[in-house]
Parts: sequence; C-alpha cells; structure tokens
Amino acid sequence: ELQFGNPLRMRPPVTRTVFSFLHGVSWRSWTNVAARFSSHSPPYAYRVARMIIAVDGPAASGKGTIARSLAAHFGLPHLDTGLLYRAVGVATERAGGDPDVEADALKACRFNDALLAEPALKSEKAAGLASRVSVHPKVRAALLKRQRDFAAKPGGAVLDGRDIGTVIVPDADAKLFVTASPEVRAQRRQFEDYSRDYPAILADILSRDERDSGRADAPMRRAEDADLLDTSDLTIGAAVQRAIALVEARIRP
Ligand code: C5P
Repeated sequence: ELQFGNPLRMRPPVTRTVFSFLHGVSWRSWTNVAARFSSHSPPYAYRVARMIIAVDGPAASGKGTIARSLAAHFGLPHLDTGLLYRAVGVATERAGGDPDVEADALKACRFNDALLAEPALKSEKAAGLASRVSVHPKVRAALLKRQRDFAAKPGGAVLDGRDIGTVIVPDADAKLFVTASPEVRAQRRQFEDYSRDYPAILADILSRDERDSGRADAPMRRAEDADLLDTSDLTIGAAVQRAIALVEARIRP
C-alpha cells in the first residue's frame, strides 16, 4: 500500500521515541557508543566520552600542527591559546597603549573576537607583542576563564600554548611538551618567510623563549606528567604519528 506525506509521522511510536532520543546527541558521543560495541575499534575510542589534551612548547616547535592534527584525529575542538595573547598584544597597540604596561594590556583583553580571524595575528610582530603582554598576571587571569571554559566542552578539547598542562588544565588526560632545537625552529620560520634573514629569526626565537620561560607568572615549562616530544629530526607526519601514539598510551584503559 502506497503512502504519501512525512514518513516520520507514519513510523510506529517506538521508532519515534528512538529518534527523539537520538536528537541533540552529537555524532562524537555516538562514535564512542558505537566503538564500545565494536571489536575493531581503535583503543582510544571506547575509553572516554570526554578527553582533554594539553599541548605546550616554544614557538615553531610544531605544537600547533600537532595540536590541530590530534584534534582532527580524535574528533575534538581545538583552541590555539597563543592567538588570544596575540589578539591582546595587537589590540593594545591599536588602542595606542603600551604592551609593557599592565593596565593598557588589561583593557585590550576585551578585544572584539573578529580580531582572532585577522591574518595580522600570524605575524612575528604580533608574536612579539603577545610575548610582552603575556607577562602581566592580570592579563593571564583575564584570559583564564575563556580557556578553561573551552577545555570543559562536553566531549573534551585540545588546547595548545605555554601553560596548558601546568596552569590551565593541570588534570588533562594527556599532556605533551613539544620542543625542537632553536636552530631547527628558526629554520622552519625561514622556510615560511624567506624575506627574513636567519640570524634575526634565531635572535627573535631565543628572546621569546627567554621571556616566556623566565616570567614569574605561569612560565613556559614542561609539566612533570607531560610526555616530551622533540621534533628536531622528525617530519611533520612522523611527529604527528608519535604524538598520537603518546596520547593513546596515556588514555588506554
Ligand atoms: O603560541 P604562539 O607563538 O602564538 O604564542 C605567542 C605568545 O603568546 C608566546 O610567545 C607567549 O608569550 C604567549 N602565550 C602564553 N601562554 C599561552 C600561549 C601563548 O604566554 N598559553
């Protein structure tokens, strides 16, 4: 017998109940549920409904690429926390403030979110401004909630920065500290922009490392329970594979 109209309306009540149950549940939770019943699932899938991965490390260590790849691999949202400090640095300068003055930088913490999408934030100049505003404790405190809220997303999240494993989410399920020698990191930056000369890039990287790890509040350092991943001699692919293996080893039941 042929029927027309909305097929859902014609389903028996029990099917409708199942559908309303499905409604509003993210696909990720369903992959976890499906993985629970599958004998072919990868080890991470059946463990958690919520997983937080903290990725820290210095500039050009590969932490951003690794964090993005982990997020894609595990189906998690990703927050590049360096971008927040870059936005504060750029907003301070645009408002005519001094990045070294805490009150000026603090005002800029209420930046417009549209700024986060601006290519200007990717520049080395923005990185330098970020490093200067990030030494101020009040600036760090102003950005804390936003980062913790992101980490508290229902399925979990991947965050990368300098103090994720030590301050932002000390109880993260997996923590990586990604490094590479300063020379390799400077070389990587030069590959991205050949208009800059190598000694200047290296000097920038070394001074940023020093400021980031020497500041009193939330200095960049490896958390005691973080796995160290040195990418100096690794290709991007090899570094990502290694990162996935380290995270899986941490979360395996
Ligand atoms: O990671 P990225 O190079 O974009 O970070 C820019 C600057 O922002 C860093 O050099 C550091 O001074 C600051 N930062 C920070 N804490 C974070 C992320 C970035 O102090 N969690």
